Amino acid sequence: MTAPRLEIDLDKIHHNASTLVERLGARGIGVTGITKAALGAPEIAATLIAAGVRGLGDSRVENIETMRRAGISAPMTLIRSPMPSQVKRVVAQADISFNTELEVVGRLSFAAQAARRTHGIVLMVELGDLREGIMPGDLESSVLKVLSFPNIALRGIGTNLACRSGVAPDARNMAELSALADRIDAGSGGRLGIVSGGNSANLSWALSGADTGRINDLRLGEAILLGREPLHRRPIDGLHTDAITLIAEAIESKLKPSRPWGEIGQSAFGAVSASAVKPDSGHGMQPGRTVQTIFALGRQDTDPDGLVPPDGIDVLGCSSDHLIVGSSGHPLSVGAEIRFQLNYSALARAMTSPFVARVMKESSAPIRESAATY
Ligand SMILES: *Cc1c(COP(=O)(O)O)cnc(C)c1O
Repeated sequence: MTAPRLEIDLDKIHHNASTLVERLGARGIGVTGITKAALGAPEIAATLIAAGVRGLGDSRVENIETMRRAGISAPMTLIRSPMPSQVKRVVAQADISFNTELEVVGRLSFAAQAARRTHGIVLMVELGDLREGIMPGDLESSVLKVLSFPNIALRGIGTNLACRSGVAPDARNMAELSALADRIDAGSGGRLGIVSGGNSANLSWALSGADTGRINDLRLGEAILLGREPLHRRPIDGLHTDAITLIAEAIESKLKPSRPWGEIGQSAFGAVSASAVKPDSGHGMQPGRTVQTIFALGRQDTDPDGLVPPDGIDVLGCSSDHLIVGSSGHPLSVGAEIRFQLNYSALARAMTSPFVARVMKESSAPIRESAATY
């Protein structure tokens, strides 16, 4: 089979998603399934819907278009503020977008009028992570302005923590979001539909037994696809952490000196780390020598720092197209395949690389292979 390839086990993704939908449902919280790390793959989107998510979200309108073209009709939210140059496409394909700039809402309003549609807005609030969001003190006036735009409907508010600065969702910042929702309801005489508390980093808070207040939505990507919570990257109890794996193929396997020779300058990707030139660390079949195997996988395909190799195998180095591994003296033959686990960064890049094929598996159905797009 072709390599490199991502093997995607849809049954495991279904299990992860339905488990989280059930656990959060018991706390009064629905799940928006986030497809951006999967590049909007329609098979994954359909799996999330079958597992009970209330809708789908993606940061890229291109991915939303991919899902719509594949016939996915679930409610769709653009979870990054729209680029002004894309408002027409956003209104055409997404039911809701996350917004922080009234200028953009105004343009969405024009596009929605032209398309004779109503576009939903979730206003994002800054609660400390310093990524997107309206400052809390400015939220109520922004709400009043959003309510005045034609063909625009205020659907709710939300916040995003952890992604930029690692700020943890906790009782204090979540209570602040609930209080803001209450205040907006009091000021507008309505009731906000969506109060979206955050991403996979919110899970420990949401499942801790804490008062979830007005929070009725979480947007989950990493927790579903990788089975881990992003604050400490710990596996989530009862979820699969190997639903998606990356397989690479060996193209060279040789006994070589464990240290480079010649004058050392920079490598293709900047300064060489000390570990790359450190003395033999035990991979050698004899002192000063090491069995090194090269896999046809590089920085153009994934984030090598986010790969977890099988036991007994260490990643020794990487360039654009070559991944060099040591295998504790066990030679790996040319043509051999190894399977890596991935972190979020390695997953997102592998999904985005045209050189990496995706293979969807279900235990109940035959393997479907979609070629690398290159
Ligand atoms: C990426 C993203 C998410 C999902 O994050 P995970 O950690 O993958 O769950 C949620 N909300 C926003 C705004 C995002 O950009």
